[in-house]
Parts: sequence; C-alpha cells; structure tokens
Amino acid sequence: MEVVRGADEILNAGKTAREQDRTIGFVPTMGALHEGHLSLIRCAREENERVVVSIFVNPLQFGPSEDFERYPRDEEADAKLAEVEGVDLLFVPSVREIYPDGTPPSVDPGPAGRLLEGASRPGYFEGMLTVVDRLLALAVPDRAYFGEKDWQQLVLVRRMARERHPEIEIVACPTVRERDGLAMSSRNSYLDPEQRAASVSLYEALQGAKAMFDAGERDTRVLVTEMTKRVEVEPLAEPDYAAVVDEETFEESERIERGARALISARIGEARLIDNLRLGD
Ligand code: AMP
Repeated sequence: MEVVRGADEILNAGKTAREQDRTIGFVPTMGALHEGHLSLIRCAREENERVVVSIFVNPLQFGPSEDFERYPRDEEADAKLAEVEGVDLLFVPSVREIYPDGTPPSVDPGPAGRLLEGASRPGYFEGMLTVVDRLLALAVPDRAYFGEKDWQQLVLVRRMARERHPEIEIVACPTVRERDGLAMSSRNSYLDPEQRAASVSLYEALQGAKAMFDAGERDTRVLVTEMTKRVEVEPLAEPDYAAVVDEETFEESERIERGARALISARIGEARLIDNLRLGD
C-alpha cells in the first residue's frame, strides 16, 4: 500500500490508473477506522481494480464548540487496517494540501441541508460537501462509497455528485452496528461504560418506531413521541432531535404515505451520536 500526502500525487496516481484502464473505488474518511469504515473498503475492494482511501479531519465541517481538536487520530493504526483490507493508496493530506488558497467557496447543501443535522450543526453540510467535492476531484474515482449511518450526508453527497461529478457513481453501504445495535462511530470512543450502556437507546428508539410502523402506525407524531421517550428515560442522554421524514427531502408530513426514514440524535457525555432506520420495505 502506498501512502501519499500531496494533491498532485493522488491526481497523478488517478491519471496512471485511467491510462491503464483500471477502475478506482474511493472511500473518504476522517480516520479512527472501525468496522463501519472497513465495510465500505471491502465493498470498494470487491467492485474496483484499485481502492483509494482518504483520511482527513476536515476543519470546515466542525463548529467552533465542536470536537475538531480532540477528534480521535491514529494514522499508524489506520494504515495497518487499510493495508490488511488490500487498500492500494492511502491519501493523508494536510489542511494546506486540501485548501491551498485558504477557505474555498462553500458548496450549498440546499433546503434539505438546513434541516435536522443542518439545523443542529450550522455550516456542517457546507463544510462536508466542500471537502467531498474537492476529494472527488482529486481521487477521480469511478465509484465512491458512503455509509447509510450518515443518511442525510449520503443524500446530500449523492445530489452534489449528480450535479458536479456526474461520471462518479455514489454507492451506499448499510450501517454496521455493535452487537447491541449501537451504530459504530469513531466518536463512540468518547463514551465511558455507563454512557456506552445508555447509547443503545438511540437504536432501540429507532427499532421501536419501526415495530410500530410495521404494526400499522402511520401517524408521524406518535412515532416521534415514542422515539423521544425512549431516549429521555436515560438520565445520561440529552436528546437533540427525533424525526420521521421523507428519505430524500427530509420534510415531515403528518402521516406516512409510503416509506420514510426515522432519524435520531442525542448527546451522551462528550459524544454527539446519530442514527437512522428506514421505515418500510
Ligand atoms: P467518518 O470517518 O465518520 O467521516 O465516516 C466515513 C464514512 O464511513 C462515511 O461515509 C460514513 O457514513 C461511513 N461510516 C461511518 N460509520 C459507519 C457505520 N457504522 N456503518 C457504515 N458506514 C459508516
């Protein structure tokens, strides 16, 4: 596995792969790799001749009171995991390498980007889309892989890529969970054992909503109330939002007509956790 840090290096590697007619699968990450990330890498490994992974903790997508400074970073461990998974190229750029001219004009996430995560974390989707746009331009992949764990991110990336990188296929991969259902996340490392026990409430809230939906409940308010209640019983959990919305527009309607998605977020200790589940087939 080759490790590169320069924008010109990853561009050149992409160019060489193109000349050799080899397909590129790309997995952008912020590092602190876990099984969720590895599932994306495995998917990319199966579908492409070359696999490129990036590790970049993007300052633009962190708010001033968020965890940019203490976000977990362990390049050595990440490189080992990536190598075992058969990654061909690991791209670990500096901030200067990604934003050589300072902060670039941000990419507009549109109305869907101002709801839920966008409302709770102003500037987050602008920053995320800006870096993904830049990374896609540098990695020049045939396919790029994103986790359903970050559902709103996935939908916004798909939309942005359709407009700005129509030649790249955005591939969605299912959420990888711990045995008790907690969605894997680099931020789970912030949880102490008691907080870890409380964190399963997010998944249980989603599952509760799904069970009610499967039993015929279509009233959004009833589902959201039940989800909120499940998280509120945990003294260590501070609910941020619980929502049942259209999967693409993130708009809420009183009754669910077809499928929808339940999304939830809560702060537990130092960690802000998110999760989601599809309601419907
Ligand atoms: P991050 O490093 O948290 O920015 O995540 C990088 C990519 O991995 C994103 O596309 C995430 O959606 C995806 N990802 C993170 N956690 C999981 C998980 N538990 N299951 C599946 N994909 C995940």
